[in-house]
Amino acid sequence: MKCWHCQEELIWGGDHTYEDYCISGEGIVTNLSCSNGACDVEQVLVYAGDQDADSSEGEAISPEKA
Ligand SMILES: [Zn+2]
Repeated sequence: MKCWHCQEELIWGGDHTYEDYCISGEGIVTNLSCSNGACDVEQVLVYAGDQDADSSEGEAISPEKA
């Protein structure tokens, strides 16, 4: 994924759940930063909602297992 501002490659910083960002629903927030130090873009957050309840990734949160 490239920065839309300077076209340099974005650096993956990590993934967080919607819960970590106090967002209702289920999804993943991916944290990216621009590799260009002179670029004005300091951070890019990608919000990817989990629309499919039957995700095959095996990381679905099961409240009943708490
Ligand atoms: Zn940039």
